[in-house]
Amino acid sequence: MPLPKRRHSNQRTRLRRTHYKLSVPTVSECPRCHAAAQPHHACPSCGYYNGRLVIAVKEKQKAD
Ligand SMILES: [Zn+2]
Repeated sequence: MPLPKRRHSNQRTRLRRTHYKLSVPTVSECPRCHAAAQPHHACPSCGYYNGRLVIAVKEKQKAD
């Protein structure tokens, strides 16, 4: 198996890792409770997706 001849410098490693970034998730509005929710995901606030309840949300006061 090939092996590197020389060790990378810390700078070289860190410069490579400058491209490792978290991306900000797209946020849209839930059509049912108008809370912020990701598109194509069940709403974390009311648990609805595509007009029906898909996940049970533990909450004191459910929106609507
Ligand atoms: Zn919702």
